[in-house]
Amino acid sequence: MKPTHEREEPMFTLISGGTVYAPEKLGRRDLLIAGGVIARIAERIELPAEFKPRVIRAKGKIVTPGMVDLHVHLLGGGGEAGPWSRTPEITLSKIVCAGVTTVVGLLGTDDVSRRPETLLAKAMQLEQEGISAWIYTGSYQLPPPTITGSVRKDIALIPKVVGVGEIAVSDHRSSQPSFDELCRIAAEARVGGMLGGKAGLVHLHMGAGPRGLEPIRRMVKETEIPIGQFLPTHVNRTRELMEDAVAFAAMGGHIDITATGRGLSFRPTSVEAVRSALEAGVPIERITLSSDSNGSMPIFDPQGRVVRLGVGEIQCLFEDWQSLTAAGIPLEESLKVVTANPARRVGLFERKGSLAVGKDADLLILDRHGDLDSVFAMGRLMLSRGELRVKGTFEE
Ligand SMILES: [Zn+2]
Repeated sequence: MKPTHEREEPMFTLISGGTVYAPEKLGRRDLLIAGGVIARIAERIELPAEFKPRVIRAKGKIVTPGMVDLHVHLLGGGGEAGPWSRTPEITLSKIVCAGVTTVVGLLGTDDVSRRPETLLAKAMQLEQEGISAWIYTGSYQLPPPTITGSVRKDIALIPKVVGVGEIAVSDHRSSQPSFDELCRIAAEARVGGMLGGKAGLVHLHMGAGPRGLEPIRRMVKETEIPIGQFLPTHVNRTRELMEDAVAFAAMGGHIDITATGRGLSFRPTSVEAVRSALEAGVPIERITLSSDSNGSMPIFDPQGRVVRLGVGEIQCLFEDWQSLTAAGIPLEESLKVVTANPARRVGLFERKGSLAVGKDADLLILDRHGDLDSVFAMGRLMLSRGELRVKGTFEE
């Protein structure tokens, strides 16, 4: 039996006549995929018959980059109400059916039963199954769990490690890190990133505590670490935190909004959050949207007891992106928050996050209603006319 990634695909695929958003609107274009990368984008592409291309007619359809989700609990998470509340691992098919072709995995509260080594192996599995995956080292806690014994070494030496996170601040589930501890870990990530030619991103989970983004602002003020090294997430958890995040973005910071989909109780919703940031003058390039998929979504009572449990769904990312477009944000702009911007934050923009010659052939075809028609990952047709073609190893 062959692993799914070794099954045969044609060398050439021609997607003809679709309206291409790269994310910027290129208009009606043919797009040629050759051996997993985008080989050409032009008004008309003719191929010699002996190339035997697979031709996909996309007239009346929209072609976009595959989505990049920089915050996914690949191994599941949770456990905050006891072992029964541990959330399940993600599967390949859920990722593909959400239009996501690149994920960045992380650990949350539970770094006792889930470890960075396991997370790395899960990312490798997903990549062999067909999509692209990276990870952050660390977890909510400081000192962080690592693979080599140091955040700096993990980022510098392990190809799949792009940063550290999600480190919890202003949250009752955090390790209540001191300011010095936070500075030290940010410096480790920065230097590791420099040595490894990576982003070295410091990805911070924001809780609902009154300190808000103050610890990050203080690091920017009192250390030499540039503001672009930090990416706070869940900034739409409360209205106060969102206002704080808009102020941070006005200083030049980047902010990550969590998809609220159908169930998450965060207010503002992701659509309200993006709109309020744009209305306050934050450039869209500073905003990303992520799913928090497979993390637990516990609701606590005033005594800090869990009263209800949910689990994050990666599908929410696609739905919230559609809602952004429905709310009047032009497609070439709304696309940035789920493609080019997250690819830049984690240092993958040379390969991911936009449609251009030489980049990985990760792309989506949307039908005239905006629904997902097809998904290509590294040039492989994973989903065709709404039907999954490639499943994870144990999903048959
Ligand atoms: Zn989180």
